[in-house]
Amino acid sequence: MSQNDNSSVLSPWAKAKEEVLKSYEVSPEDGLSNEEVDSRLKRYGQNKLKEISKKSKWTILKNQFKSFLVILLAVASLISFIFGKVLEGVSITAVLFINAIIGFITESKAVKSMKSLREMTRIDTHERREGEIEEIVAKNLVPGDIVVLRSGDLVPADLRIIESSKLQTDESALTGESIPVSKNSEKVKEDAPLAERTDMLYKGTHLTRGTAEGVVVSTGSDTELGKISESIEEAEEEKTPLEEKLDELGQKLVPVLLGIAFVVGVAGIIRGLDLFLMIETSIALAVAAVPEGLPIVATLALARGMWRMADRNALVNSLSSVETLGSTNIICSDKTGTLTENRMTVNKFEMAPGEVSLTGKGLETEGDFLEGDSEIDVADDEVLKKSLEVGVLCNNASYDEEDGEKDIMGDPMEVSLLIAGIKAGMGRDKLLEKKSEVREVSFDPEVKMMATYHQINGAYQVAVKGAPEAVLDSSTDVLTEEGREKLSEEEKEEWLKKNNQLGEDGLRVLALATKEVTDSDEKPYMDLTFLGLVAMNDPPREEVKPAIKKCQDAGMRVIMVTGDHAAAGKNIGYRVGLFDTQDVDVISGDELDDPENLSDEEKERIVNAPIFARVSPENKLDLIEIHQEDGSIVAMTGDGVNDAPALKKADIGITMGQRGTQVAKEAADIVLRDDNFSTITKAVEQGRIIFKNIRKFVIYLLSGNMSQLLAIFLASIIGYPLPLLPLQILFLNVVNDVFPAFALGVGGGSEKVMDSPPRDPKESVLTKSHWRNIGLYGVLIAIATLGSFYLGSIEFGMYVNGDPNYRVVTISFLTLAFARLWHVFDMRDVDSGFFKNEITTNKYVWGALGLCSVLLLAATYLPGLSVVLQTVDIGLKGWSIVVVMSIIPVTIVQIAKEIMKFRKTL
Ligand code: ADP
Ligand code: MG
Repeated sequence: MSQNDNSSVLSPWAKAKEEVLKSYEVSPEDGLSNEEVDSRLKRYGQNKLKEISKKSKWTILKNQFKSFLVILLAVASLISFIFGKVLEGVSITAVLFINAIIGFITESKAVKSMKSLREMTRIDTHERREGEIEEIVAKNLVPGDIVVLRSGDLVPADLRIIESSKLQTDESALTGESIPVSKNSEKVKEDAPLAERTDMLYKGTHLTRGTAEGVVVSTGSDTELGKISESIEEAEEEKTPLEEKLDELGQKLVPVLLGIAFVVGVAGIIRGLDLFLMIETSIALAVAAVPEGLPIVATLALARGMWRMADRNALVNSLSSVETLGSTNIICSDKTGTLTENRMTVNKFEMAPGEVSLTGKGLETEGDFLEGDSEIDVADDEVLKKSLEVGVLCNNASYDEEDGEKDIMGDPMEVSLLIAGIKAGMGRDKLLEKKSEVREVSFDPEVKMMATYHQINGAYQVAVKGAPEAVLDSSTDVLTEEGREKLSEEEKEEWLKKNNQLGEDGLRVLALATKEVTDSDEKPYMDLTFLGLVAMNDPPREEVKPAIKKCQDAGMRVIMVTGDHAAAGKNIGYRVGLFDTQDVDVISGDELDDPENLSDEEKERIVNAPIFARVSPENKLDLIEIHQEDGSIVAMTGDGVNDAPALKKADIGITMGQRGTQVAKEAADIVLRDDNFSTITKAVEQGRIIFKNIRKFVIYLLSGNMSQLLAIFLASIIGYPLPLLPLQILFLNVVNDVFPAFALGVGGGSEKVMDSPPRDPKESVLTKSHWRNIGLYGVLIAIATLGSFYLGSIEFGMYVNGDPNYRVVTISFLTLAFARLWHVFDMRDVDSGFFKNEITTNKYVWGALGLCSVLLLAATYLPGLSVVLQTVDIGLKGWSIVVVMSIIPVTIVQIAKEIMKFRKTL
């Protein structure tokens, strides 16, 4: 590298791996040193593609001045200057900047919040540095780094393979070819096209099988993916459906409100009111009417919700998923690890000579083998010995114990087999010394089996484990005390019955089989000698039952979609409360194998079934489709490489933080950090709360705006002077309104959101009844405002020397302002408590009320501000009017809510 500083090795696929490693001055055992990494990071930059639409502080700031609202304000201030009203002009300009600052702060906060959320969901990669395997952020990889990958991992940069085992990759993201490609470290021809460079791994592809070690040859935009995607990556950040709906709402509303504002202005001018005053009032009303802030407050509320979900162990990949969660009505969950603890212990072997049980709980490595009640020696039982051996050999897990500290890796089911072996004195390492592994056919969820090949004096022993139906199907013989015997169809039936019985006890059952072959290329799953069944206990997670109950109460259906046997699925499903009888209709995965030819009855059965067993990843895809056609919003879990398509197809794809592969994590919308079903329930709850919050602040803002529009409109009809002045309107909308709206947007919601069915996804943000409420709230507050204007004018007179009495205007202004503050309490749900509800328990609401009250006092008494807003001291009498009149609307609404609640209970 020192010779040619700025270019990577040319055509690394055509060079021997030693040569490539040498050019990068790295040894595969040690990896790079930290200093070297730092210097290369400086030289090559970070390993990332160009970021999608960079939202810098500067662009955010610039965007604040691009809105319709700003144009309106600018026009207003210009008109003020033209009419020679300098103070107004300057004040409106100030409002314009205050508005921009608030917008800027809000949006920066949302962007920052999203960025750190994205950091949480990023996927780390494993690489070797300074001799140790570390987990690092993929963007910090540099050329020369040694990366270690296994099946299900994403390739983080372009790599030259230096070591591999049974390696296959899916390169469809790069080449469009979806058939997995086998790879190894052998160099290929220099002119080999991308798709044929079988000694290279490319960024954006993933491992479907095997393991690999490779040296990074290019990173970031120098990778093949970087080269093709640089041009398309510039796309604008997508808006979520909700943000779009809010935009739409704004667009529909604006012309109407602008029309009203215009009419008010014209009517005033015709009535002979001051021309300048009416123009400014119209513009101020227009400003108030434009709901510019809605989408950004919504974004903030969504981002805030994502944080709350993260606190509850659900990492959500996008804002729109938060929204979709709220209308999810079907949750398809797998069983092992999500509904159950995934802490398995082998407790029984069923073999031809009989049943042997095994003592010892959890991960204890001490335990006895019992036949009936008497202890037996494994060495004396040939069939048991062979079974244990196959269980230990056909295994990818590892178990180590040093100084009492357990070092366990891999699938808990496989770990339990290793532990059973240890109880019999059979460690995997010791077994492998005699029978070294030469080949592995990895577990494939389609065939539901796995096999390993082991060298034994000149021949090979094949060790197979898998789902009993599958293993029995591939077996021709069975091992008995007398040796190998033919396995008849009737006997197979018997075994399947036993499998069923074990399943009914909620045990997870695997079958074990073996055979000897002379050629390690021979197919694994045929002519096997059946050894027996092994049963393990995997108890349901305690917290799952109440979580499922909560989902059901919330009008969602939870459906089990398991790869396991029907009986075991039923037992667990029954125990976690998925159904209240064990007598349920289980649909087997193969019934979904031909989705095109399903009759309507069959489809209906599928739609109604609570449990699917022996399901393959492919089946999941069809199941989702059938439910979606039925109009459902479907959430589906999955953790394997093959689950990615189903995770993408589901409305909400859910994967597991611990068990899930990187590929699944990338395809999923939600990652459960604790792999736990109850986390899904919490996420749904948050999804619903967020939507409600957004609805609340939209209603709050619109009804507030409506009230002032109506107040002025009505005043002009009945021939009153303006109860509000233009700058007062701006003050309310740009400053005062914002804080309660934010507070509503980030509220914690109430438990009750899980008492009602999911929201219809087609439902708009505001339904007819919401609009009616907005109208009613608006009318109430407008009447209160005019009422206090009337009371004020009785007390102080409507006009002073022909001018409107500013004291009375201040009274009506403050009445409107405070009535709108108290109005937040109207945002509670009808079925919530009168004193204790999601509004009164929201500390931000109280903060906002406090802050806004102070601001209103400042508006009245702070010398500079009161001049601008033309407010004056209203005295004790004035304040009495303000307090009483501003409380009346909220009191009426609260009484109405209580009456509605009472009528609901009838
Ligand atoms: P689940 O829904 O219970 O997680 P999986 O799809 O993981 O089901 O597995 C389906 C079936 O395949 C299991 O019931 C078991 O019989 C078999 N199986 C799972 N993992 C392995 C493995 N590593 N080796 C052999 N068989 C396996
Ligand atoms: Mg599984």
